[in-house]
Amino acid sequence: MAEEIFEINEGEEKKSLNFVQQLVAEDLKAGKNGGRLNTRFPPEPNGYLHIGHAKAICMDFGVAEMFGGTCNLRFDDTNPIKEDVEYVESIKEDIKWLGYDWGDRLYYASDYFPKLYDLAVRMIKEGKAYVDDQTSEQIAAQKGTPTTPGTESPYRNRTPEENLDLFERMNAGEFDEGARVLRAKIDMASSNMHFRDPIMYRIIKHPHHRTGDKWKVYPMYDFAHGQSDYFEGVTHSICTLEFVPHRPLYEYFVKELADESYCPRQIEFNRLNLTYTLMSKRKLLQLVKEGLVAGWDDPRMPTICGLRRRGYTPESIKNFIDAIGYTKYEALNDISLLEHAVREDLNKRANRVSAVLDPVKVVITNFPEDKTEMVTIENNPEDPNGGTHEMPFTREIFIEREDFMENPPKKYFRMTPGKEVRLKAGYIVMCTGCKKDADGNIEEIYCEYDPETKSGMPGSMRKVKGTLHWVSAKYCKKATVRLYDRLFMVENPSAETEKDFRELLNPDSLKVTTALIEPYLAETAVAGNKYQFQRIGYFCVDKDSTADNLIFNKTIGLKDSWAKEKAK
Ligand code: ATP
Ligand code: MG
Repeated sequence: MAEEIFEINEGEEKKSLNFVQQLVAEDLKAGKNGGRLNTRFPPEPNGYLHIGHAKAICMDFGVAEMFGGTCNLRFDDTNPIKEDVEYVESIKEDIKWLGYDWGDRLYYASDYFPKLYDLAVRMIKEGKAYVDDQTSEQIAAQKGTPTTPGTESPYRNRTPEENLDLFERMNAGEFDEGARVLRAKIDMASSNMHFRDPIMYRIIKHPHHRTGDKWKVYPMYDFAHGQSDYFEGVTHSICTLEFVPHRPLYEYFVKELADESYCPRQIEFNRLNLTYTLMSKRKLLQLVKEGLVAGWDDPRMPTICGLRRRGYTPESIKNFIDAIGYTKYEALNDISLLEHAVREDLNKRANRVSAVLDPVKVVITNFPEDKTEMVTIENNPEDPNGGTHEMPFTREIFIEREDFMENPPKKYFRMTPGKEVRLKAGYIVMCTGCKKDADGNIEEIYCEYDPETKSGMPGSMRKVKGTLHWVSAKYCKKATVRLYDRLFMVENPSAETEKDFRELLNPDSLKVTTALIEPYLAETAVAGNKYQFQRIGYFCVDKDSTADNLIFNKTIGLKDSWAKEKAK
């Protein structure tokens, strides 16, 4: 099977398999599970997916795709208190957007509540589980430490009959939440803390988004996950490294069901962690609930929907995940590598347009007042089939305020009196002076254009160091532009212990400004469209944008600090 893979990839750049793919290839080669490959992505619907989940999705769906297997989508909905259908729907949308398909294999752990309950009953009857009347605090206090054994519960040796009676009454709603739990009777002295009589079921009296009030007891993750894998025929249960210590327990419960012919296997890889943001769903939910961001899809959020609204493409996210790879060691990934990935991708697909964010007027004094001359702009020099568009050139235009200096330092190649500069796709102009207000602020700049230097004409070949973007004062349109920066001020907000994470938010992560944009941009801007604002960066049309109120979100600036660092 492993060799076949290389044949599938024939002609493409041959990449070596990562360690998970290798393990899968070996199992297939050895004919395990009848040669079947079935993975699963198991989100808990208690929040929106983030880029860390994208790493898991690319692994789970990707490895199945690679070896001709299948991948299930299974909602791990075992805790009704935090879960909601809103999250279920958003998760489905995000996975589809990333380009993956679970086909007809959409499952819910809650579908297995009856089977799990039956298994618990069987284990009770076989003396492998007992009802403990202690509080969670008491149980925790008896856990012991990794080097000292725990203490056995005084309820550990109840008879199966009594345990069964209590468990059934727990589920009938007879007892309060927290009053009793069902525990596996394993070994309070085990060197693996997870084996010290782990909790299998707890009482929750909150309606479940799918099963309503049917159940009063809900299985814990460890009692639900492996068995759910088994019920679905999952062969490879790929998860993140924090589950390594859970693996023996996963295998312990699965063995209650599985045999030689088929047994799911857990494999772990390192989580995705990113600088200047965080991946905790609990904290992201807090940001949303407290209004510290504009919602789960706020373009500053590391969520998939936030990245989508920010202008990220599925390809850019996948390329980034490919670049960081999968290992057995935890790491903190540099967000500038993600930014590099989106820049590279948008460079290939985004049309170049003119937008002025901080305008100052320029009057081309020798250009006729009523004249409009169309100039032609290449949509994308990276794309041979990208085509061109037209932009009106007029006597009055706007340029960026920072592109003019009255008294510049040496080597200033933008607009300054007595020097020539090129107007992108237009003419070469000579700056002749400017007008200032009483406070010395520049009000207007004056230039003369050279009619022989229109872009594309021989005269335009003249050597001029600076090229500026501009828009026609007569034809430009206004647009709202949201300039985003990193959400947190510190590199690793999760590692800060001194301060609450909310105090570490970057107060300048959003600036809103009004830009002047060329007509072509105003005419073509529909939600989701991506553009390169020349000399500024990549921008995406926001979902709330309308023809009367165009809104652009800045995806990322043009300057690539990551590529620069690497070149050093
Ligand atoms: P919770 O704290 O609620 O458990 P979670 O982030 O683990 O949050 P899940 O919905 O349980 O959320 O995650 C679904 C899958 O995504 C799991 O298999 C998990 O291992 C994986 N996953 C979650 N976070 C990351 C991450 N940062 N990098 C890679 N995979 C992740
Ligand atoms: Mg989890």
